Amino acid sequence: MYDYDLLVVGSANADLVIGVERRPGPGETVLGSDLSVHTGGKGANQAVAAARLGARTALLARVGDDAHGRLLLDSQRSAGVDTAGVLSGGAPTGVALITVDPSGDNSIVVSPGANARLTPADIRDASAQLRASRVISAQLEIPLETVGEVVAGLAPGSRFVLNPSPPVPLPAAILAACDPLIVNEHEARVVLGASVGDDPEEWARALLALGPRSVVITLGARGALVADDRTTALVPSVRVRAVDTTGAGDAFTAALAWRLGAGESLVEAASYAARVGAAAVTKEGAQVSFPTAAEVASLAG
Ligand code: ATP
Repeated sequence: MYDYDLLVVGSANADLVIGVERRPGPGETVLGSDLSVHTGGKGANQAVAAARLGARTALLARVGDDAHGRLLLDSQRSAGVDTAGVLSGGAPTGVALITVDPSGDNSIVVSPGANARLTPADIRDASAQLRASRVISAQLEIPLETVGEVVAGLAPGSRFVLNPSPPVPLPAAILAACDPLIVNEHEARVVLGASVGDDPEEWARALLALGPRSVVITLGARGALVADDRTTALVPSVRVRAVDTTGAGDAFTAALAWRLGAGESLVEAASYAARVGAAAVTKEGAQVSFPTAAEVASLAG
């Protein structure tokens, strides 16, 4: 009955990465490595992750009418994502300018560009695609009011999943629609807005009290805590040799959203998502590290 298992509404960025010996001070120029260009943005990452697992996936996003926008569209299509809902123009494609020093520390400047021009009107225009999707996931690299419009336009029976990243305090209407709200420790603290202790179970209870139907707190190598009004459970991670954790949260979220839509319980879906997140950290990069379903199945542990 649904055309899509998952519709991702979110950002698409070109990540421009240069290795440097040290960062320039004000007024200074330093030479760096050759430029690497990677496709990124939380929305684009989630869509690629879900499609690679075999989910029928669509992306609703905005890119610029430029080379980075075409690169992003190509990478989505070659992963099997339906890009009919990717709008073009209005501003340059979102870009993250990233310098990496020899110790592996990143400094990042993000120009949201076209992501900031994905408007509530764009969401209303895409209402048929929203209705055709079993699960809709969003993040916050697009305007909050645009995410609010997604929530307002949800069809009865479809499920909404939100990773509030970068985090801000959330309006009650958005919180009430989340099933689940997926946060890491930092995001949990910002969404809660109050000083909280160090116990993830306490954060989960406090987050549930804000209105979401369920909550997932990702805890890196410690796994994920899932909670709804009936269950609280720690889903362990799979032990792997972590090489690069970039994008693990996006892969986890996409996998969780897809499996929930397929009818799995929160614990079952989070267990699968933990395997996807673990597989993603075993390889360098974000989108290129996302596993296929066969790779998830063959992961030991
Ligand atoms: P990011 O912002 O870096 O993409 P995040 O902070 O949103 O990530 P994490 O908690 O780091 O999310 O990772 C998501 C999930 O991926 C974890 O809950 C866990 O299941 C899995 N994962 C992450 N890091 C590891 C690791 N080192 N070993 C095994 N599993 C991991």
